[in-house]
Amino acid sequence: MEQCVFCKIVNKEIPSEIIYENDKICVFKDINPKAPVHILIVPKKHTESLNELDEREKDLLGEMVLAAKKTAKDFGISDGYKLLFNVGKKGGQIVEHLHLHLLGGW
Ligand code: AMP
Ligand code: ZN
Repeated sequence: MEQCVFCKIVNKEIPSEIIYENDKICVFKDINPKAPVHILIVPKKHTESLNELDEREKDLLGEMVLAAKKTAKDFGISDGYKLLFNVGKKGGQIVEHLHLHLLGGW
């Protein structure tokens, strides 16, 4: 099956500005930023959206949120930022691979 765009980023098959990665997550700059700082926190394992997760993925979700907090600190925007999950087409989700938006720097 054709990989999704974020799987291709995770697998380094298409270029992106990766800020941080470990065995579970990848943090990279949004290609079309909607804020002065716009970064995406993405699990390496393909999962369509938050709706596919349950208790078993609590650690992954915690890791994503803490990575967002650390990235906000590293980018000097700890004094104010937004974290956003778009879920489903009706929720504004375009890329069907779970991701957390970090927005700030206004
Ligand atoms: P969403 O609407 O929540 O699905 O957001 C998807 C986000 O992915 C948008 O903000 C896009 O600008 C961003 N995006 C799409 N393709 C890429 C890419 N190749 N590299 C970085 N960000 C991307
Ligand atoms: Zn994917």
